[in-house]
Amino acid sequence: MGCLTFHCWLCPLGMGDRMKIDLRRLKLHPQESEEFYLETAGRNDFLKEVGGKFAAPLQVKLLVDNTGKIFVARGRVRTTLQLPCSRCLGEAIVPVDAELACNILEAKYSEYADLEEDIIIHDPGQVDISPCVEEALFMSIPINPLCKLGCQGLCPRCGVNRNLEECQCESEEIDPRWEKLKNIIK
Ligand SMILES: [Zn+2]
Ligand SMILES: [Zn+2]
Repeated sequence: MGCLTFHCWLCPLGMGDRMKIDLRRLKLHPQESEEFYLETAGRNDFLKEVGGKFAAPLQVKLLVDNTGKIFVARGRVRTTLQLPCSRCLGEAIVPVDAELACNILEAKYSEYADLEEDIIIHDPGQVDISPCVEEALFMSIPINPLCKLGCQGLCPRCGVNRNLEECQCESEEIDPRWEKLKNIIK
């Protein structure tokens, strides 16, 4: 129990939105598996860094195998994110359907753990899989999200959103190589 309280101290928002599964039943049945389905609104503060927010609930479907020593979890994370378009800063709606994989180990087996990826537990009734879910989500955020295919972006000169209005900047902008060619043709 001590560790869970410790975890809570680390999490400034409290534990309300943490995604937890209860492995007490599966722990009693080695070589078996159990399916879990979780849904939350998603923590928008997690997406603040990229200027985004959740546009749909965060859904996690997980199949956990009890190997007898450790728990092996495999599943999918589904949601929809709203991110700023990388060209015009408008709303880019990005569906996410990402693979989820992590090992869950009791503290006594922590010597087998990959500390970067695995989840060490002290209470099998309260297994917080949020770090694993957030990792999978983070990996699926596109580098250059777009509001639509062929978004025209903002004019680099006057800042007008070229999806909404035209500006005069482009006509003034002539490639100097074409300028020369025009003079030759004359
Ligand atoms: Zn755009
Ligand atoms: Zn312009």
